[in-house]
Amino acid sequence: MKSKGVVWFRKDLRLTDNPAWSRATTDHDEVTALFVVDPALWDLAGDNRRNQLVAHLAALDGDLASCGGRLRVYRGDPVKVLPDLARQVTADLVHWNTDVSPYAARRDDAVRNALQNRCVGHPGSWVHPPGSIQTSSDKAYRVFTHFHRAWDQLDRPLWATPGEARVLGDHGDGLPPADSDPLMPPGAAGAMHRLAQFLDRVDRYRSGRHDLDSTSRLSADLKFGTIDPRRLAAEVGERTAGRRAFLRQLAWRDFYGHLMAAYPWTAREDMRPEVGSIPWRTDPEALEAWKTGTTGYPMVDAGMRQLLAEGWMPNRVRMMVASFLVKDLLIDWREGERHFLRFLVDGDPAQNVGNWQWVAGTGADAAPYSRIFNPVTQSRRFDHEGWYIKRWVPELRRLPPQVVHAPWEAHADVLEAAGVRLGSEYPKPIVDHPEARREALAAFEAATAGGA
Ligand code: FAD
Repeated sequence: MKSKGVVWFRKDLRLTDNPAWSRATTDHDEVTALFVVDPALWDLAGDNRRNQLVAHLAALDGDLASCGGRLRVYRGDPVKVLPDLARQVTADLVHWNTDVSPYAARRDDAVRNALQNRCVGHPGSWVHPPGSIQTSSDKAYRVFTHFHRAWDQLDRPLWATPGEARVLGDHGDGLPPADSDPLMPPGAAGAMHRLAQFLDRVDRYRSGRHDLDSTSRLSADLKFGTIDPRRLAAEVGERTAGRRAFLRQLAWRDFYGHLMAAYPWTAREDMRPEVGSIPWRTDPEALEAWKTGTTGYPMVDAGMRQLLAEGWMPNRVRMMVASFLVKDLLIDWREGERHFLRFLVDGDPAQNVGNWQWVAGTGADAAPYSRIFNPVTQSRRFDHEGWYIKRWVPELRRLPPQVVHAPWEAHADVLEAAGVRLGSEYPKPIVDHPEARREALAAFEAATAGGA
């Protein structure tokens, strides 16, 4: 009798370097490729992420067609869809690559029960999967440098190539409609194209890492799994400082995966209880100004507008806008985390929470609370000529570079010549940074002393 398998694709939308796909197509005679549009996740995602997902699914469907099959797509609760489909195709085993967010872990447990354990998880979304790098007392590392030392010593063998199974051709409900074209060329082919472009500049990555436009922009490919992190690490290699610096960033990604798997409660709670309870402010107006990019701080506004338009921001700007929310506005990091998760195309609970807690100073390996990003000096340093600001805050495009970072410091004549009236065309700053910084330091100091 023929052996039949199902591969449930989730954050691994590729056919090569995919351990779940390789194993299923090797161990079974017939394989069904499945994607479930889970309303619990779909409804949370902004348009940019949805459009990109639909385009990636269409590309995966195309790749499956070249193996004679199709991607079956169903909308519904995986806990119901999976056992129904497994029954329908009389599957012996369902394969997937594991995931770590609390929602994913709960869902996968429920699906496993519904399938009566006729399923197997594979480690296909990481260089080194969560749980594989532990301290000598078998706990997750809480300090990145120690984690990285261990990470760096392990081999990174590539995953097996796919087998010969026949891929079935039913299409299920079909793809959900997309609202517009995706922002990036989709699929594994799109990811490979982006990687090829990045390889031309990777040797400059060490200094370029802080640039606003020279990083790889592969975060969404890693999120959707259109590229395998081990393949990425192998293609980049480590022969120059730039390449090693890039691999270190992939280790950060694994680090946050490990932390989320070991401490799932950190998705909602501060990781370091000794930080105590910070007196977060409830200020809907300030929160709205932050979300809409109308704080009056040009670099913060540029970043927040890029997030809404493109679903992406450079890391430097993410750190700055996050610091502005939690320190200058003293608004709970969870508000920012939720907004980022909705709008980032690469939005991913483990990475997002890990980074937000790092900036807030509440995380495992956190920035000290005294590190408060100055939105003006950061802007002058990393967007010296102001091109990034002018791209996203066009009402300031006629201001000279010297004042574009802090228009309120400009002489009235300069503002008038550039057609900028503060308070009408562009807002006045909603807080005074030096004063906000003093207040934040006092609040964090008191909270830390209280929680110690
Ligand atoms: P590159 O500089 O080219 O780095 C290569 C890869 O390394 C990235 O694609 C990413 O997978 C990984 N990486 C780089 N920096 C980090 C980091 N700080 N933490 C973890 N992994 C990293 N990244 C996400 O993928 N999803 C998120 O939801 C997310 N939320 C963030 C929220 C905040 C507040 C901050 C400060 C950072 C967040 N990041 C998140 C991390 C980082 O900003 C992005 O991964 C990076 O900007 C993506 O651009 P890139 O691919 O060009 O990065």
